[in-house]
Amino acid sequence: MVTSGLVVRSYSGYYYVDCAGIMITCKVKGHMKQKRFSLCTGDRVQLEVNPDKADEGMITAVLPRRNYLDRPTVANLDLLVITLALVQPDFSFLIADKLLVLAEAANIPVLLVLSKADLATEEQRETIASVYRKIGYETFVISSKTGEGIDALRRRLEGKVTAFGGPSGVGKSSALNAIQPGVLRTTGEISTKISRGKHTTRYTELIPFNGGYLADTPGFGNVMMENLESDLLPACFPEFRQFEATCKFSPCSHTHEPVCGVKDAVRENRIASSRYASYLSIRKELIENKARNRR
Ligand code: GDP
Ligand code: ZN
Repeated sequence: MVTSGLVVRSYSGYYYVDCAGIMITCKVKGHMKQKRFSLCTGDRVQLEVNPDKADEGMITAVLPRRNYLDRPTVANLDLLVITLALVQPDFSFLIADKLLVLAEAANIPVLLVLSKADLATEEQRETIASVYRKIGYETFVISSKTGEGIDALRRRLEGKVTAFGGPSGVGKSSALNAIQPGVLRTTGEISTKISRGKHTTRYTELIPFNGGYLADTPGFGNVMMENLESDLLPACFPEFRQFEATCKFSPCSHTHEPVCGVKDAVRENRIASSRYASYLSIRKELIENKARNRR
């Protein structure tokens, strides 16, 4: 029987595929190994179920990916929850914007979670949240300590395949545990004894959650901007789009050009100055990285 399913876990050449609620342990069919293929958690696959053992199968094809994230390694996310603390550690517009760029570049829909609301003032919440809400980024203010915003967040993730990401210490684990106690593995590393000695693997597992799935390993402790061409950066700032029509040059880098709709919009406060500052800073980093790699 041929069917399709979702890879929820991969381990030592085995893939655990959820086929409408039935878990099937699969290997990859020989012909696929000859082709170049990659398979990871979150991939949608086609498989042949073993006629003699209904919980075993062979993966015969991988469906095209909508998106792919490196850390944690997961494909086809419906949502990336970018988590940042309002305070403790202090909110960094640059880190937030780097993570948003990463998601935009990878074509992953995002939701911004501002955590530790219990420690923040009304003004801190408002100044930070309003920057992102104006752009159109859905923004939740939560506290895992008081439970504020947790129910709303849980409802929002219903039926979605979601991963959490953000720097360490911002409260990702606390938020995950608040929305679904026990969902998080205590550590992202597991060690297995193999014949050649100790081998440590890191893998992501999708845990059934509220009609969808949650990745059990939160992503990216530190943010590196590596594989993005600086020319593609403006497209990762969605609020620039409506002002680019008045740039004299196309494409426009929105830096040195004399007539630039984006720079005008920054001057008129229609684009947040923090966002433009992040744009310049990320652009510089991308250009420097590229020069370094060429050397
Ligand atoms: P992670 O590294 O992003 O997973 O962050 P953790 O969930 O481990 O949280 C880091 C620290 O912040 C811990 O000491 C938590 O107790 C604390 N913390 C997390 N969420 C909240 C919150 O909503 N309010 C307060 N006051 N502290 C929090
Ligand atoms: Zn411009």
